[in-house]
Amino acid sequence: MRLTGIGVGRTVAVGPVKRMPDPLPEPPEGATHAGADAEIARTRSALQQVAAELNERGRRAGGEARNVLEAQALMAEDPSLVDDVVARITAGRTGERAVFEAFLEFQVMLVGLGGYMAERATDLGDVAQRVIARLTGVRAPGVPESDTPFVLVARDLAPADTALLDLDKVLALITSDGGPTSHTAILARAKSIPAIVGVGGAQQLAEGQLVIADASTGEIEADPDDAAVADAQRRIEERRAMLNAPITPGALGDGTRIALLANLGNAKDAAGAVELGAEGVGLFRTEFLFLDSRSAPTVQEQRDQYIALLKAFSGKKVVVRALDAGADKPLAFLNDTEEENPALGLRGLRVLRAHEDILREQLTALAEADAATEADLWVMAPMVSEPEESEYFTALARELGIATAGVMVEVPSSALLAAQILESADFVSIGTNDLTQYTLAADRLLGTVANFQDPWHPAVLRLVAEVGRAGAAAGKSVGICGEAAADPQLAVVLVGLGATSLSMTPAALADVRAELLTVTLDEARARAAAALAAPSAAAARAAAASLV
Ligand code: PEP
Ligand code: MG
Repeated sequence: MRLTGIGVGRTVAVGPVKRMPDPLPEPPEGATHAGADAEIARTRSALQQVAAELNERGRRAGGEARNVLEAQALMAEDPSLVDDVVARITAGRTGERAVFEAFLEFQVMLVGLGGYMAERATDLGDVAQRVIARLTGVRAPGVPESDTPFVLVARDLAPADTALLDLDKVLALITSDGGPTSHTAILARAKSIPAIVGVGGAQQLAEGQLVIADASTGEIEADPDDAAVADAQRRIEERRAMLNAPITPGALGDGTRIALLANLGNAKDAAGAVELGAEGVGLFRTEFLFLDSRSAPTVQEQRDQYIALLKAFSGKKVVVRALDAGADKPLAFLNDTEEENPALGLRGLRVLRAHEDILREQLTALAEADAATEADLWVMAPMVSEPEESEYFTALARELGIATAGVMVEVPSSALLAAQILESADFVSIGTNDLTQYTLAADRLLGTVANFQDPWHPAVLRLVAEVGRAGAAAGKSVGICGEAAADPQLAVVLVGLGATSLSMTPAALADVRAELLTVTLDEARARAAAALAAPSAAAARAAAASLV
């Protein structure tokens, strides 16, 4: 049996399936309790115990996972949610049913808000399951335990599961839900484990069944023959050897230099990126610093953060993006109006322009940090859709002391007008995540349209080619900083289309570095031409692969 989904990463794994237990059944609607007071006490206690357990898991996991788990613990103790649960019990519901209904109502509301908020609905659903499991006296659904390595098959993974995943045991992740930006995909990329998400038939995989999960193609082969297993094992060994090879600057086999840079959201991650061979930063997502801020950060606050980042990359290029607020990353102090379609709304540079004081403060903080450090600072604007916006941003940045100012190309209109944009911008960087979302008209966070969110799509590649041509004609740098740059085969195609640097999650650097060394610029261009001529993303992938 062969199944397909969206592969995350380049790696392959072989092992037996272990399935994540299915979610608990819905607590019956008509069930009653013996007395409201006792039921409320029992339920409050379960909520508190789950909050304590999540905090404890967070303490054990540390790092980013700790924040996620502590945020979940807060959900279990949220006063308005607890009040809602108590009211439902008073009205006659059992504790289980009251928790189910109250959390579900809240989840529906979050989904309605869309974007980053909608992604948190899964986290809330996971908290409800844990509380209901405790009330019913059954084990909370979670990652199965095993003494031997396995391939984990699940509907999707909640953060509480991913945080404590034993990476020595989990060979690969396969999920039926979830798109390329789900927790599963993010975790897999960060930890370099193969994952295949959005696999329609994943439920057919049986406990203990041997599978080969190939993230480079998104294919799962169940009950493979000995030859297929041997071939997969050979690839696993090759990869191991490659990861142990010395780190060299990014280049093609013919010596053409392609800088390999890191995508970062926090100065704390800089040291890890340098260790993995990042030659600088291609995208620093400043909005990640302020996702929880209620008011705009001060110049001083920002300057300190930027200085920490720039110090870690002394003498190297660091591309910082002005706040990209809105849609999947709303900031309370910038996105204060309700919008039906926030991805098409006042986001990125549009909202910064509407609050120019905040943009001015950010550029000032960056210029001051630049003056106090030795890195080569470049600053760019997000969500630019026409040349006039590039003129506006670059002029303002220069006025405030930024030496190198450019823009992101994430909207098809700006890709098509790249030549005019490059009349004012010193450089461009293509954000393939949004460029794909807008080209294919498919919400990048929505699992149901995840199949459209594929940067291999020839329509996306044509836009990249347009930007590549404009960059070459102007003699200016064309970076790629979307997830596409982290896909080694696609990275080669992007270079063939004119990309001069690639920026990605640091864990992907080794794979991309190794793949670039296997081709010359002419070969990369030939693969790009083959992909461009294809009618679909799958055909583009296959056309490029046929030239390997
Ligand atoms: C992109 O859109 O590709 C990008 C790099 O920006 P972000 O993912 O932060 O929107
Ligand atoms: Mg973007």
